[in-house]
Formats: sequence, structure tokens, C-alpha cells
Amino acid sequence: MKKKLIAGNWKMNGSLAANESLVRALLAGMGGAGCTVAVCVPAPYLVQLQALCAGSALELGAQDVSQHEQGAFTGEVSAAMLKEFGVRYAIVGHSERRQYNGESDALVAEKAKAALAHGVTPIVCVGETLAQREAGKTEEVVKRQLAAVIHSNGHCISEIVVAYEPIWAIGTGKTATPEQAQQVHAVLRAQLKAATAHSQRVAILYGGSMNSANAASLLAQADIDGGLVGGAALKAPDFLQIIAAARQAPAA
Ligand code: PEP
Repeated sequence: MKKKLIAGNWKMNGSLAANESLVRALLAGMGGAGCTVAVCVPAPYLVQLQALCAGSALELGAQDVSQHEQGAFTGEVSAAMLKEFGVRYAIVGHSERRQYNGESDALVAEKAKAALAHGVTPIVCVGETLAQREAGKTEEVVKRQLAAVIHSNGHCISEIVVAYEPIWAIGTGKTATPEQAQQVHAVLRAQLKAATAHSQRVAILYGGSMNSANAASLLAQADIDGGLVGGAALKAPDFLQIIAAARQAPAA
């Protein structure tokens, strides 16, 4: 049985003062979590978060990682650097990076590989646009995105986390219904099953306007192992309610 995983994606938000009060409120409200909880924060705040989270159940994550080991790659942050700051997770292939930074499936796969090589768990984001959904291409798109990561990572694939994030649901307040999400999660699970004997180890998170009102019904689905949470992760009461829903959800 694996615990649910709730990961907050702070995106480009925060300040030293705001981070401190948010994290203190989370630590005070989380209790013995009963699920795994992480916050993926902007890179400059990793040192602050490492100190704030020390000795707690709150895990640290990054929002991206370089595919390179080291060298002349101005502005990039390597997996080895993240590891030095106690980072356990790194989001790769978030739709905002695919869209604004032109990240391809192949690049996302290389980033996942670099993270795994340093013991950082990549949270691999996949998801379709509204136009792709309406054209009946959801399955094809998410399978193509995940296939690239499976292809480059071979037997290590059971060590990744996958996040299904329909792009039309991110930051829009429109959430996939639990049935819509479960349908795609089942497709991803089957794809993982064909790639590894340990597919059940892989957590498949749902992301896209998850909030305190819809978390329980999403997390009750058979193949939804947790959530990747944007906006609601910036408000302690909302994030804590999602954590509480994960704690009460049936374990897979
Ligand atoms: C995200 O950015 O990964 C996300 C899911 O955002 P939101 O929860 O705000 O839709």
C-alpha cells in the first residue's frame, strides 16, 4: 500500500516572509501526515525551506532541473545542486515550461533522467490542451509524453512520479471530473504496467485546480495517488484541507 502524495507547486510566488508564515502554518496543521506532503518552491528559496523543514515531515521539491551535469549552462540548476539542499522531488515538463520555454518530450525525458541519477524523484507532468481533448486526442498526447520518459529511463521508470495535468484545468478553476481524471490515469497506469513489473509503485497525481472542495472525490479514484496543487498550495488552510482529504482517502 502506498501513501498518497500531495505536492504543492508554488510556481513563481513567494517571499522570505510569506514562505516562512506559510510553512509554519503547514507544519503546525499537518500533524503526523499519514500521506506524503511536499512543496516545490522557486530555487532561490531552497536554502530557506531546507532550514524551515528540517526534522519535519514536509518534503522539499524544485520546479525544474537541468538535463546537464554541470558546466557552461547559464541560469541552469543541476540535480546534484538540488540534492545538496535536501530536495526530494523535481517537477519536470510542467505545461508552463513546455509552453513558455519550448520544452520537448525528449528534453523532459532527459531532465527526468538527470534527476533520477542523483536520487531526486522527477514529477513528470503530462496533459492535453482543450483543443486536443476536443479532438479526441487526450490519450494519444499523454501516452506520447510518457513514452518519451519511459524510453529514456528504462528500468528506473518505477522510481518516477507522474502528474496528469490537463492544461485546460490548470489555474482556470475548471477541474476534470473524477471520472475524466480516472480514465486518463488508468491509461497511464496501463502504459506503466507494460513498461515495468513495479508499476504500482509509481504514484500518478492529478493536477488542475484541485482544491479543498474537490480533492476528496478526485483522491477516491482507484488510480489517483495524490495531487499536484498550484493555487491552493499558497493558502495554508486550503492546502491543509487537501492534505486531510488525502489522509482519509482509500489507499491503493
Ligand atoms: C499546477 O500548476 O501544477 C497546477 C495544478 O495549478 P492549479 O492547481 O492552480 O491549477
